Amino acid sequence: MAQALHENALPPNAPARNATGAGTETKAETKAGRAAAAARAVERDPRWQKVVARDRAADGDFVYAVRTTGVYCRPSCAARPAKPENVAFFAGPAEAEAAGFRACRRCTPNAASLAEQHAATVAKACRAIETAEAMPSLKALAGSVGMSPYHFHRVFKAVTGLTPKAYATAHRDSRAKTELARAGSVTEAIYDAGFHSSGRFYATSNAVLGMTPTAYRAGGVDTDIRFALAQCSLGAILVAASDRGICAISLGDDPDALARELQDRFPNANLIGGDAEFEALVARVVGFVEAPQLGLDLPLDVRGTAFQQRVWQALRAIPAGETASYRDIAERIGAPTAMRAVAGACAANAIAVAIPCHRVVRNDGALSGYRWGVERKRALLEKEAQA
Ligand SMILES: [Zn+2]
Repeated sequence: MAQALHENALPPNAPARNATGAGTETKAETKAGRAAAAARAVERDPRWQKVVARDRAADGDFVYAVRTTGVYCRPSCAARPAKPENVAFFAGPAEAEAAGFRACRRCTPNAASLAEQHAATVAKACRAIETAEAMPSLKALAGSVGMSPYHFHRVFKAVTGLTPKAYATAHRDSRAKTELARAGSVTEAIYDAGFHSSGRFYATSNAVLGMTPTAYRAGGVDTDIRFALAQCSLGAILVAASDRGICAISLGDDPDALARELQDRFPNANLIGGDAEFEALVARVVGFVEAPQLGLDLPLDVRGTAFQQRVWQALRAIPAGETASYRDIAERIGAPTAMRAVAGACAANAIAVAIPCHRVVRNDGALSGYRWGVERKRALLEKEAQA
């Protein structure tokens, strides 16, 4: 009976069940027994620990209601802790309100969380940057979303991993990159993409493309890429690096196939077999793949569009031992409806483990595909969960 009371989560002023008592028990005994059983049921619920810990990460997953006050809260609410026998859990504000509870004024569980508000604000600013002829000033951008320039800059960086200026630059550069692949001449591409002086483009392009525009268009011509193959617990591993940093980490059963793939990606680069110095770097990467929670303190040569870079930045923020859904990532980068594009960016990642796309799972928690084999994804996640 007490169990049923908890699960049905009666509103605070509804008549308690069996209040008239039954059989030989007195009213007082029935009530006390019911409260104790309700408390035990709540304490056994894993959500209770999150309430006790005021776990911010659980906000949005559920709300809890307190029968004695008639109020429901986010798990992280700073209000005085409730007695477990008076607590009921609900999937969200709508369910709690349908059961007769009202939102706590302190933690406002029915309002969008600060993180959600920030993501929406930043998404709006990103669209403004993308559609503007010239880069809007920080003051104008901040003003358009009702924030101070200082606060806006901090929020933008926290959500995207980039400053507004770097985002505008990356967006313009990704347009330049698309144009380069099909334009007749590099100069034309530069002007089509909105660069006013080609000198400025050449000055910044190396940082974005990892090579000069002409070299990029020609599939990495005149670029030196060192690579080496090794074995790790997940099978064969290929590590490749330009002089800017690691540009590929790939996993597979067949080492030759991994080398051919690298060649296909950079058909015109000078692929150079690793020397002793490079072998030392490969050993560090293999050590990292075996124990990702240790982190990899080596520069990455990340090549992708501005959007892909935002996704990859968000992936790198998922700690080892945790996973996120495509929807989580889409929300974190301020593009909540871009789940398919997020999945595409995960699939386009060329740097296994260091950009941990294996930590992204389907919205229902099931493993989704993995460029280097779903069994390797499972093995990596199991290893990280144990660490
Ligand atoms: Zn509250």
